[in-house]
Amino acid sequence: MISDSVRVRFAPSPTGFLHVGGLRTALFNFLFARNTGGRFILRIEDTDRARYVEGAVENLINTLHWAGLYYDEGPLVGGDFGPYVQSERIGIYKQHVDLLLEKGTAYRCFCTPDRLEAMRKEQEKNKLQPKYDRTCLRLSAKELADNISAGKPFVVRMKVPDDISVKFSDIIRGDVEFLSERVDDQVLLKSDGFPTYHLANVVDDHLMKISHVIRGEEWLSSTPKHVLLYKAFGWELPEFAHLPLLLNPDRSKLSKRQGDVAVEDYRDKGYLKEALVNFVALLGWNPGDEREIFSLAELEKEFSLEKVNKSGAVFNVEKLNWLNFQHLRRQTDGEVLSMLKAHLSKMSIDPSKFPDRYLLEVITAMRERVSFVKGFTEKSPYFFSPPEEYDPAVINKRWKPQSAEYLGELSEAFSKMSDPQKGDYEDALHRTAESLKVGNGELIHPLRLAVSGMGEGPGLFDIVSIIGKEETIRRINSAIERIK
Ligand code: GLU
Repeated sequence: MISDSVRVRFAPSPTGFLHVGGLRTALFNFLFARNTGGRFILRIEDTDRARYVEGAVENLINTLHWAGLYYDEGPLVGGDFGPYVQSERIGIYKQHVDLLLEKGTAYRCFCTPDRLEAMRKEQEKNKLQPKYDRTCLRLSAKELADNISAGKPFVVRMKVPDDISVKFSDIIRGDVEFLSERVDDQVLLKSDGFPTYHLANVVDDHLMKISHVIRGEEWLSSTPKHVLLYKAFGWELPEFAHLPLLLNPDRSKLSKRQGDVAVEDYRDKGYLKEALVNFVALLGWNPGDEREIFSLAELEKEFSLEKVNKSGAVFNVEKLNWLNFQHLRRQTDGEVLSMLKAHLSKMSIDPSKFPDRYLLEVITAMRERVSFVKGFTEKSPYFFSPPEEYDPAVINKRWKPQSAEYLGELSEAFSKMSDPQKGDYEDALHRTAESLKVGNGELIHPLRLAVSGMGEGPGLFDIVSIIGKEETIRRINSAIERIK
């Protein structure tokens, strides 16, 4: 389907950071737009001033851009349907509420918070559904006029039609039906003149010509109110698609308490954007076959809402780690090189101490062994500085009373070589073992311990040839002295 009428939006509230669930919603909207040739819009829903966090919008946009999700219309870039920040559209909501008041599909409510609280307590006591009791719907024309001229504060509520059944169809969930009596006379405009989420969201989706509302399942319960609002205005409904909930492995709802949920936390922990985007794409969507590794461009080609399932999607960090490994493998050596340099700086290791050629050799030796760029320093710190200590378990197992003497011989042999290559070290070790009349292992294991401090890693002669002859000899001598 190629359509220039597809217009979708990501409509976050700027409450601080982008949640991984928000990234999933943004991504699915973005992919749907790219797949259909439609437009992807960013709209900032910031009418709840109490929840507003300074700098949150910039942070959100930066994070979306980091992930590669560029929007076609929205703050900063503009577009034909702006402004795209709701706090800049207050007049528009006011006008629309006036329209509803004229039509009689909304009404002013002067009830004080105290009265509403008392009403709610009473309903609770009588086990009734908490719902506005419509006291103000029954005001006479005179009472209404008096209240207004007395300047009494009011909210505007939607007048939900009595006893009707409202249906809409959801692309992911199929037909959804609800009874209007379950729906409260929702507040549309607050007493401070700000719209509620419901009003602003519906008005903007209509005015911005949004064709498909794609959002998380947690908003499904708001959709009946929205459908009634569309009807109250006499507007056509958009298509709806509610994405499955994100769950912890124990199937509880993914929440802040259970570990990190901010996209920037994952970025700071060293996850590649390619891996995180791929991972988030698979939270509720699959291509319909066994494939799991996708670039953003591949996802744009493959994505469809029809392949989004409705059961909750489990957030499995092991899968994310595996995808990070897969995507790190897909990066070129040059890309890994620049990430490694940035990582070294972050670790206060001056990357300029190491020529690119050296770092590239480290990358070749280690890249199949690490899932994260930080793995280069965590798994093979010996490429960046001599071992500070030697693994005691390896000493116990591999360091014999004669090891110091054998390594002394080996260091002698190495020192005689000029410009040795990997194979030369290996030959020298074999010759030394032969002349000592011992197995190669008697030299190999202590040598590995001496140069790396560890018992495992990439090929020993790779390590030795990367760190070079002088450094190898220095490390052998230091080990002879320090391991007793
Ligand atoms: N502002 C809502 C949010 O924070 C938008 C929900 C919707 O997409 O309608 O997620």
